[in-house]
Amino acid sequence: MSLIVQKYGGSSVADAESIKRVAKRIVETRKAGNDVVVVVSAMGDTTDELFDLALSVSPLPSGRELDMLLTAGERISMALLAMAIKSLGQEARSYTGSQAGLMTDAKHGSARIVDVNPARVRAALDAGAIAIVAGFQGFNRGTGDITTLGRGGSDTTAVALAAALDADVCEIYTDVDGVFTADPRVVPTARKIDTITSEEMLELAAAGAKVLYIRAVEYARRHGVTLHVRSSFNNNEGTLVVNPENGEIVEEAIIAGVAADLSEAKITVVGVPDVPGKAAQIFTIVASTEANIDMIVQNVSTAATGLADISFTLPKLDGAKVIQTLEAKKSEVGFDSLQYDDQIGKLALVGAGMRTNAGVSAKLFTALFDAGINIEMISTSEIRISVVTRADTLGEAVRVVHSAFDLDGEEEAKVHGGTGR
Ligand code: ASP
Ligand code: MG
Repeated sequence: MSLIVQKYGGSSVADAESIKRVAKRIVETRKAGNDVVVVVSAMGDTTDELFDLALSVSPLPSGRELDMLLTAGERISMALLAMAIKSLGQEARSYTGSQAGLMTDAKHGSARIVDVNPARVRAALDAGAIAIVAGFQGFNRGTGDITTLGRGGSDTTAVALAAALDADVCEIYTDVDGVFTADPRVVPTARKIDTITSEEMLELAAAGAKVLYIRAVEYARRHGVTLHVRSSFNNNEGTLVVNPENGEIVEEAIIAGVAADLSEAKITVVGVPDVPGKAAQIFTIVASTEANIDMIVQNVSTAATGLADISFTLPKLDGAKVIQTLEAKKSEVGFDSLQYDDQIGKLALVGAGMRTNAGVSAKLFTALFDAGINIEMISTSEIRISVVTRADTLGEAVRVVHSAFDLDGEEEAKVHGGTGR
């Protein structure tokens, strides 16, 4: 008998019909002789709607109350799903994050899981029931309050439960057939990947691939959980995210895929004195805002001016805060001015084979050049090359790079739901 954790995203449980369809699927898995734990997201766009509702009564809702509100979304779907399963004649019990033993730190809105004690989930399984757990939420012992794990956090709930229960596999059900070589909404000829390493998946998720949430991939990698990304709309094979370190086998492709991200902006600090300590000073100020910065580029100062420019990218959501904080320290740091640009797009090419294959960056830059696309910033890791372009050329950039690396498949990829979650 296997223990399977299944996570269903919001687009898979968007309405009553979808919930019944998913319930059937879960019951089939149970009848095939498996123990089943289900983690469920809020229905459709419920989380966004609750968020908007909060903003309509308060410009800056308190973190505690916002978490209390948002966790209601998953409560609705877990209870409905349990009812639907029971009506199919199978025993099911739903649990909130805290009932399922997901203990987190106290950081409202982006809490981290510190401990998982799924005693009640285990007891439900022992009693022959299917356990349904609300995703995206936990409980902090210190404050006694409900927390949320950050947007898309249900993936992490599923992985954390799979690790704690020592599940055989953690299946992530979404509205596409698996992980693709690019977002099928942007590149219709994107190909489904059969097997990908968790290292590559981590880079793709960090670079904006929305199919899996980055913290979940990190958690799975650390705890050796095998992820299986599948569509809840058909029975296709999906994508296995494996950990070769644990002896799991993976096909070797040089390039795994191309990711695109339109959620970032670029800040340029103009006229920074070219003396030791200035980068340290600037990024200490930026760090104090808790913004996650990504690419950093410093141009060489011309001898005549002795001044350099430093550019970096960061989530648009953090833009105003960082500009404000840096502006306040302008004379202390001694730079001339700040430029803010939120019309950038970021493309990342990811593949473990880059380590041992020369010429990957040359091919990437040539493909962009041939399409007349200007590169504004470049950064690399061992298995990733990222470039910044104008936002309005990003889609074209992804398509030309995708075909330059022969990633195009034969048929058009199918997108069933539409949100990619
Ligand atoms: N419902 C939450 C969100 O939309 C969590 C999730 O879907 O994973 O972000
Ligand atoms: Mg959602």
